[in-house]
Amino acid sequence: MQRDGTGSVKCSHCGATMESQGIEQFRVGGTTGGWKLLFGEWAELGEGMLPMEVFVCPQCHKVELFLAGRR
Ligand SMILES: [Zn+2]
Repeated sequence: MQRDGTGSVKCSHCGATMESQGIEQFRVGGTTGGWKLLFGEWAELGEGMLPMEVFVCPQCHKVELFLAGRR
């Protein structure tokens, strides 16, 4: 997954330009250990909801998630 100069996202699977589906709020912390695998110690901060921008490839339907509002 790479962003080009225009801010669009190329599918890492087939190279098509992915379409943003907007920001979704994902719950982190709490019951499952899966978030720790993805986000390491950060998942343990207990921030609650994590905004992720969802991109979908119109060609192969691959889904990519990008952290929103963090930089
Ligand atoms: Zn694709």
